[in-house]
Formats: sequence, structure tokens, C-alpha cells
Amino acid sequence: MTLQKAPYPLIGGVHLPDHKHESTQKPIQTLTLAPRLIIPLLQHIGEEAKPIVAMGDHVLKGQKIGEVRAFVSTPVHASTSGTIVNIGLYPVDHPSQLHGLCVVIEPDGLDEWAAHTGLDDYLNAPISTLLAIIREAGIAGMGGAGFPTGSKLSLKEHTPVDIVVLNAMECEPYITADDMLMRERANEVIEGAKIVQYMLQAQHIMIGIEDNKAQAINALQQIIKDDSQIIISVTPTRYPSGAARQTVYMLTGREVPASGRTTDVGVFCLNVATAAAVYRAVVLGEPLLSRITTVTGLGVSQAANFEVLIGTPIKHLLSQAQAKFEQISRLIIGGPMMGYTLPHADIAVIKTTNCVIAATNKDFAPPPPEMPCIRCGDCAVVCPVVLLPQQLLWFAKSKEFDKAKQHNLDDCIECGACAYVCPSNIPLVQYYRYAKGELATQQQEAEKAEIARVRFESRKERLAQEEADKEAKRQARQIAAAKAKEETAKQLELAPQQNSVAPAIDSKTLMIAAATARSNLKKAQKRLLAAQTTQEDTTAIEQEIEQLQAEVTKLQTGLS
Ligand code: SF4
Ligand code: SF4
Repeated sequence: MTLQKAPYPLIGGVHLPDHKHESTQKPIQTLTLAPRLIIPLLQHIGEEAKPIVAMGDHVLKGQKIGEVRAFVSTPVHASTSGTIVNIGLYPVDHPSQLHGLCVVIEPDGLDEWAAHTGLDDYLNAPISTLLAIIREAGIAGMGGAGFPTGSKLSLKEHTPVDIVVLNAMECEPYITADDMLMRERANEVIEGAKIVQYMLQAQHIMIGIEDNKAQAINALQQIIKDDSQIIISVTPTRYPSGAARQTVYMLTGREVPASGRTTDVGVFCLNVATAAAVYRAVVLGEPLLSRITTVTGLGVSQAANFEVLIGTPIKHLLSQAQAKFEQISRLIIGGPMMGYTLPHADIAVIKTTNCVIAATNKDFAPPPPEMPCIRCGDCAVVCPVVLLPQQLLWFAKSKEFDKAKQHNLDDCIECGACAYVCPSNIPLVQYYRYAKGELATQQQEAEKAEIARVRFESRKERLAQEEADKEAKRQARQIAAAKAKEETAKQLELAPQQNSVAPAIDSKTLMIAAATARSNLKKAQKRLLAAQTTQEDTTAIEQEIEQLQAEVTKLQTGLS
């Protein structure tokens, strides 16, 4: 094992007041079981899982209740044993504040597990087996991104990766869930990272961790011991060092392309909680049923980290932390820099809920009024992506979205460092989100217009082709009729000569034959009409009509 200072510095960034000590004074707390668990079927990036249980069903802990229906998706499991009492729409933990489909379980209090087994010799197991276990365990990025880990690992089947970066930065100032996890369960984190390293056949594991987590660093060292493939890279405590691109750069010096992934530069990023979930899935056979969530802010008396069953209402969690509900002015999910506000506490903890800040007005005073930009340039100094935030602000305000795009608005990670230092209190990130939204709408409209154009062109081509086919058939019919007429005329010219060797056909026989041919022609024409009405293939009937017309013409010519 190597313990080193991260070799590359964070570009820009800010030092934020520390609020981690409030929630790290106690070990991880166990939570009492809530009367009801509300488990959303979409807790990840990608497609919502499909419910596979019905109301009234009794389920066991770990039993699958939602099945994947797309490559980018994860299954969902019952967090405890009990009865399904509803499947319906509930408010969910998401910035959009929309409702999502949830399975509601009334626990039976027995916490009875479904059958499950882990793998002993997991570092020699087939990679496909490990991948299937991780996918079935419903693991999604627990640092907040929520990308299904099984899908992310599957994407890597064709891209070589030499480094697994274990992201232990946790740079938002209030969140301590990963810190406490590493202090108490460093073995799970390291073993999970080793499983991923083995699956990707990567040479190294690099752990990126800020220097404000001395206890966690110590715990990791105790587990890693002399493993030469693992490097702990300690970075200064500076926000936003935990953003994936920034972490990868600080540890490896590799720059992830703006529209690319870390794997494009040979690095697979893994959050520490996700690594521990991989360990529990593979070694213990446990799907992802719970997570560690920080509960903090002046709105609770007992700030701490809790092991929370997925689906536990946040109100229940706050009660366990002895919330002073009447003093809470805002409920923030995640950190104050990149988190979002929930409308109320009747929303369940999901796989990505790493922190709940029960904030009072003392935590976060209402924002002061926005003032005009004074072009001080402070925002540009702290931008970790080396953008020109004041320029982007100008373009967003003047609705010059294309120019904002040209100035790399898409590269903005919405970290809020620029807004944090702005002396004019300009909510810069809100302007950037607005501009990005407008650009996305323009893009969608351009795509829709392109689809409509392609449809119109292809319809025009199809109609032209149909017309050309009809014309070709018409001409073919005319040629065939002319040939038939010519043939009949030739035969009739020959008829008197033939009379010398064979008796001529009498006129009565010819009349009967002509009447029969006409009748057959009429019948075929009726069938053609019927086939055209029902849009069936008319090719055979049309050929038959051509022959009959030729026959009628021939016989009538013989009679005249
Ligand atoms: S920090 Fe604020 S006031 Fe200064 S240049 Fe940037 S946007 Fe303008
Ligand atoms: S929010 Fe965007 S523009 Fe502002 S500092 Fe962060 S990356 Fe730069």
C-alpha cells in the first residue's frame, strides 16, 4: 500500500466551513422499523423497474418486488418482510418533486430473510457470474448519481481500464455517510473495490480521500496493510474535489473529455458506499436494502449517521434524530452546494439519499438580494472547469444560448463554487440551469423537425415510386394487349388457309366462348375491386384480367 499526497492539485475550488463534526460524534445508529416502507420503483438513472408483486402479497426481506425492463435499470427488493398494502404513486426523493410508482410494505416485524447465499471464492469466480450478481442485487451509484452499477460494469466489457478510483472525497460540508462507513466498515469498502478491480482486470485501486478524514484513512490502512496494488491519495479539503472528473484528474493527471466518461481515460470511478454494496451482494448474497444516511442541521438534536432501510419515510428518520420539526425551514437532500430541497418529510429514503439536512434559518439565512455583476472575476478564479462564469451569466440573461454553448456551458458541473464567492449574490447556477434547459428544448425541437423532414421526404419518395410502378404496369398491359391483338389478327389471317386442312370454328361456338370470356372478365374485375378495397395484393388478379381482356378481344375479333 502507498499513502501519498494526491499528485495533481484541484483547479479552482473553494474552502467551505466544515459541518462534519456534528454528525460524526456517534457510531452509525440503528433505526427502528417504520410502520410503513414506501419503496419507489425508480431510484436510479434509467428505466423504472416493473412491479412483480400484488397487493396483499406477503414478501420476505430481500425478495425481488420490481424487475428490470431495460439495460439501464436495476431491480428493487423488499427491505423487510411484511405485506404489500399498496402499489401506487407517491412523492419521491427527486429534485423534480414529481410522484413515482412505489410499492408500500407494512412490516410484520419479523425481518425474515428470503433464501440467499454469497460466494466464498469470489476473486476466482467467472466475471459474468459476478456481473449477474451485482445486477440482480439492484446496486446503483450511492454517491448520489444513481447510475446502475451492473450496467456501468457491463459497458466496460469492451473498454480497457487500468485504474479503479475509489471516490472517498465526500467534499460537501455536511455529508459524513461515507466517512463513517469507512471508519466502521473499511473491510467491506476495500473488498468491494477489489471485486470491481478483478472484474475489470485493472492494475491499481486508487483511493481519493480528503485530509479531513484521518480516522477513515487510518481504518483503510489497517485493512489494506501491504497490498501494493492499492494507493491512498490524500487531497486537501477543498470543494468540489469529489466531482468525478476532478477526482480523476487530482489522482492520475488524466483529463476526462467534457462529453466523455472517466472510462475514456482508463479509469472506473466507484463511490465507497457502492463498493461496500458490491461486497455485500457478492460475498453475503444480500441485495441493496439499506444505506447509511447522514441526518444533520440545527433542526435535529441528535445529528448522526443512520443505517436506514430503503423506503423508510424521512419523517421517521428525523424523529429518530429528535427533530425539532417546528424549527425546520428547509429539508435539503445531499449537501448545501449541489443538493435540492424537498417539499415535506413524507418522502422515503432511496438508494441515493446520502444526507438529509434539517435546516433552520440559522443554518442557512434567506439569500440576500441579487445585485448587478461588477465583473470582479472572482467566479472565474474558483471555477474548477476553467469556464468564464460571468460571461455565461451574460449570455443566459440575454438569451444568447448558442453563445453560452460556444463558451462551453455544457462543461459546467453546476458545483456552485462561482455563486458561493460572488459578491453580488447572483444565483449563477440557476441561470446556467435555465440556459441548459432552453438549449435542451431547442435541441429537442430541432430533432423533432429533422424527424418530420425525413418522414416527409420518405413519403414523397414512396408516392413517386408507387406512381412509377403503376405507370410501368400500365405500359406493360398496353404492350401485352397490343401483342395479343396482333397475334389474333395473324391467326385470323391464317384461318382460311387452315380451313383447307381443318374445319373452321363455327360462329355459335365463338359466341359462347366470347360470352364466357366476358363473364370471367367481369368476375375478375369485381374481385379486383374487392381486393383494392381491402388493400390486398392485386398483382395476380391484374394479370388474370389482362389475359381475359386479350382473350375477349381475340374472340370478338373472330366474330366481327
Ligand atoms: S463573481 Fe459575481 S460579480 Fe464577480 S464577475 Fe462573477 S458574476 Fe460578476
Ligand atoms: S457552477 Fe459551473 S461555472 Fe460555476 S464554478 Fe461550477 S463549473 Fe464553474
